[in-house]
Amino acid sequence: MIELNPIFQELNTICPNGVFQSVALKEFSYWKVGGLADYLIEPQSIEQLSEVIKYLKNQSQLPYMVIGDGSNLLFDDGGYRGVIIRIGNNMSQVKFQGTEVTCEAGVWVPGLAYSTYRKGLTGLEHTCGIPGRLGGLIYMNGGSNRQAISENLKSVILIDEEGNIQTIDASEFDFEYRTSPFQTLKYIIAGAILKLEVSNVSKVRSAMRKILTSRRKKFPRKQPNCGSVFISNPKMYDLIGPPGFAIEKVGLKGLRKGDAQISPLHANFIVNLGDASSTDILYLVSLARKKVYENTNFLMDCEARYVYQTGEICQAHVRAEEIFGCSK
Ligand SMILES: Cc1cc2nc3c(=O)[nH]c(=O)nc-3n(C[C@H](O)[C@H](O)[C@H](O)COP(=O)(O)OP(=O)(O)OC[C@H]3O[C@@H](n4cnc5c(N)ncnc54)[C@H](O)[C@@H]3O)c2cc1C
Repeated sequence: MIELNPIFQELNTICPNGVFQSVALKEFSYWKVGGLADYLIEPQSIEQLSEVIKYLKNQSQLPYMVIGDGSNLLFDDGGYRGVIIRIGNNMSQVKFQGTEVTCEAGVWVPGLAYSTYRKGLTGLEHTCGIPGRLGGLIYMNGGSNRQAISENLKSVILIDEEGNIQTIDASEFDFEYRTSPFQTLKYIIAGAILKLEVSNVSKVRSAMRKILTSRRKKFPRKQPNCGSVFISNPKMYDLIGPPGFAIEKVGLKGLRKGDAQISPLHANFIVNLGDASSTDILYLVSLARKKVYENTNFLMDCEARYVYQTGEICQAHVRAEEIFGCSK
C-alpha cells in the first residue's frame, strides 16, 4: 500500500486539489529550464494563501518561494528543495469601483490591461504586452516605455511571514526603476488596488495597439526566453545605448553556448533553442557582462532572477559570477 506523504496531506487539506509533488520547474518558467521542485501549491484565495504560510512557518518549516508565471525566472537544473507557491489563475479576481481596480495578485497582466481599456480607463497601457501576473509585475516594478506599475498603485495587499494579511498604502514604500521594496522585504504580494483615470476607449486602444505593434517587431517570439536579460541603466543608456546595443557592439549577438543563444534578433534576449541548461544561460550572462564592461566601463545588472536549489533568489548575474568569476 502507498504511504501518503503527511506534508502533502496537510497542504492538500488547506488547499484542496491545489497541491502537486515532484513538479518539473521547466514547465513554470518561460525559459523552459529547471529541475524538479518537491512541492508546488496553487492557492485559490488570499485567505487560503495566508493559511498555507501559517502552516509552512509553524508546522512544516519547509522553505517556500512565490512565483507568478515564471516569465522572469531562471530555475536551477537541480530544481528546488521546498514549496513553490504559484499565484496565478486561481487567485485572479478583479473588481472595478469607479477609477479604482481591486485585483488579486494572480491576474494576468495583459488581460487586466485589456479589461481596463474596455472600461474606458487609462494608466495600464504600458503593461499591455508584458507577460506575467500582477504580483510578479509589482515585485519587479515592471512596465514599459520608461513607465512602471508603481505609478498605478494606490495600495498593496500583503501577507507577512506570519501569514497576516495587511493592506498598506503604496506611498509607504520606495519604488525605483525596476526595483521594488519587495525584492528585500519578506512579503508576499497577495493583491493590489490600482488607481487609474477616466479616458476615451478608442484613445486607449490605439495607444495599446501602437505598443503591441512595436513589441512584436522587436522581440523574439518563437523560442523560449525571459524577456530582457539586463536592466537598462539610464546613465549607460545616455552614453552608450541600451544593453542590447552594447552586447551587439562587442560581437556577441547570435553567440551560442549549448542550446542557449544570445538572440540574433535582439541581443538583450537569451533564447533556449531546445535543451539549454541553467549553466549555459548563466555562462552567456557572465560573458556579455564581462565583454560590455571591458568595452564601456559599465557593469550591466540582470533583470532576470535566478533561483537557487535552496529557494533564495538573486539577480542572475550574481549567480553567473559565482560560477564563472567576476566581470571586472
Ligand atoms: C517576451 C517577454 C517580454 C517581457 N517584457 C517586459 C517588459 O516590457 N517590461 C518588464 O518590466 N518586464 C518584461 N518582461 C519580464 C516579465 O514578464 C516581468 O518581469 C513580469 O512582470 C514577471 O511576472 P511573473 O508573474 O512572470 O513573475 P515571475 O517571473 O514568476 O517572478 C518574478 C519575481 O517576482 C517574484 N514574485 C512573483 N509573484 C510574486 C508575489 N505574488 N509576491 C511576491 N513575489 C512575487 C518571484 O519570486 C520572482 O522573484 C518580459 C518577459 C518576456 C518573456
